[in-house]
Amino acid sequence: MLNSDLIKSFAFDLGFDDCGITNCCVSEKYFNFFNDWLDKNYHADMNYLKKNLEIRKNLNLLVENAKSVIVVLMNYNNIDFFKDKNISIAKYAYGTDYHIVIKNKLYDFIHKIKEIYPNVNCRCFVDSAPILERYFAKKAGLGFIGKNNCLITKKFGSFVFIGEIILDLEFINYDKENIEECEKCNKCIEFCPTGALTEFCLNSNKCISYQTIENKNKIPKELSNKIKKQIFGCDICQNVCPHNQNLEINNHAEFQILPKILNFDKSELNNLTDKKFEEKFSETALSRINREKMVGNCGN
Ligand code: SF4
Ligand code: SF4
Repeated sequence: MLNSDLIKSFAFDLGFDDCGITNCCVSEKYFNFFNDWLDKNYHADMNYLKKNLEIRKNLNLLVENAKSVIVVLMNYNNIDFFKDKNISIAKYAYGTDYHIVIKNKLYDFIHKIKEIYPNVNCRCFVDSAPILERYFAKKAGLGFIGKNNCLITKKFGSFVFIGEIILDLEFINYDKENIEECEKCNKCIEFCPTGALTEFCLNSNKCISYQTIENKNKIPKELSNKIKKQIFGCDICQNVCPHNQNLEINNHAEFQILPKILNFDKSELNNLTDKKFEEKFSETALSRINREKMVGNCGN
């Protein structure tokens, strides 16, 4: 059995901002909630979410004999550089693509674990596998899931990236699940410009983040009318949250705003070919969309 204090110290040494450890079980209640959400078609056309439901429930299908999940967080909070501009880009996309940054750190983390437990069987993930990430982060005591559907932490609010290592070893001590709730607050629901949020439920079809990033088709008129300046993602339901006020700015070099993001404006798009767009934004989260989609987002 592993000592969780030692393993967590590795996480902090590697630059993660928090770390929690829990077992692999998925509660029936949460799994059913996720299934209900899919049944309502709130996943829009992100059909990959409907695949591999068995894996979401049973992590043994990802890592044989899986026993534990180490969940790590990285703060990406920053000032809103687009506050006074006529476009806005979600904060999570300001710096280097978090998939790259966190995956590399998780590989180093695994290396450290293997120095002590060479026979451990483990894999790491960032948004890349059918894992109920926020659920495991909550279960590992790192925060609670708010009505805006985000993981809300004490220290960093909801501006955090989540990564996991699933491993076939048990720990002496697991963290206690966070059982906090939003209680009477409804700010994110009230301020969402498209009515995408209801209590604990996000309808992706109406969400600006989905529409400007995931939706491969034209944004429906009834929604584009409500999109003021978001050209990649939307932070409104996070910005209004009381847990996100007066937070520390992240201190990770990788998540500081890149000049090419800071100085980006609509007119630049006209001078970029598809290939130039791709080259310019490779290694940033903006690479999730192509130039044509960005043009559509700019013009709505
Ligand atoms: S990201 Fe924007 S559109 Fe989506 S739920 Fe939050 S406020 Fe609403
Ligand atoms: S704005 Fe209020 S209701 Fe929404 S996530 Fe934050 S605390 Fe919860």
